Amino acid sequence: MQADLTRLSFSEVDRSGRKITRVTQTAQITGAAPTSMQLDLPFRVAPTVLVRHQWARRYILRVLDDGTLRVTLPRWGSKREALAFVEQSRPWIERQRAARQARPAVVHPDEPGLRRRALRELPPALTALAAAHDISVTRISVRNQRSRWGACSAAGAITLNWRLILVPEYVREYVMLHELMHRRELNHSARFWRHVQAVCPRHREARQWLLTEGQRLFTGPAASGEC
Ligand SMILES: [Zn+2]
Repeated sequence: MQADLTRLSFSEVDRSGRKITRVTQTAQITGAAPTSMQLDLPFRVAPTVLVRHQWARRYILRVLDDGTLRVTLPRWGSKREALAFVEQSRPWIERQRAARQARPAVVHPDEPGLRRRALRELPPALTALAAAHDISVTRISVRNQRSRWGACSAAGAITLNWRLILVPEYVREYVMLHELMHRRELNHSARFWRHVQAVCPRHREARQWLLTEGQRLFTGPAASGEC
C-alpha cells in the first residue's frame, strides 16, 4: 500500500480527478485548535474532505474550485495513509490552490462610499443582533481587514470588515452571529458551532459562499487561511 502511495505521480493524480458517483463515507479534517479568537474568521478556509469510494483503486487527490482538497480513498485504504499522501503532495496541492485563486478580484470603483456606508450600517445591525440574543459587546469597529471577515476579542470588542456590505444578507448575518457567539465560546469547538447552529441555521451555506465567492472581494495576495 505504501508503494501505491509513492508510485502515484502528480500528473497521474491530476488526470484522475474524475467525478465520484458513490460516496460511502466522508470525514472532515479540521486544523489545530486556535490559540486566540482575536484573529478570527479568515476569508480563506480550505478544508480537506476524505471520501471513501468503493471503486477507487488508489488514493486520488483533487482540488476543487473553492480550494477544498478532496481525498478519495480506495475501499482498502486507511485514513493514516491518505493523510501521509496529502503531506507528501503538499507542493502540488498548493500549486493547484494558487491556480484556482488566480481568478480576478472584483474591483469597487466607489470604495470610499461603500466604506462610509459600511460604517453607517454595520454597527447598528450588529447591535440589533447582539440585543436579540442578549449578548454584550464592548466595542464595534469597521475596518479594512485584508484577510478576515470579522474578529472578536476576549474583552468583547468586535471588528467587522467593511466588505460585509457587499455580501448577501444571510452571509453578513452569519459573520455577525459567528463573532457574537464567540462571546459565549472563545474558540471553534463543537460547543461553539452548536451555538452558531442554534442562531444561524444557514451557517454552512454562508461559509460555503465565503469560500467560493467571498475571496473575490479582496485584492492582493491571500493571507494564510487557517482559523
Ligand atoms: Zn470564529
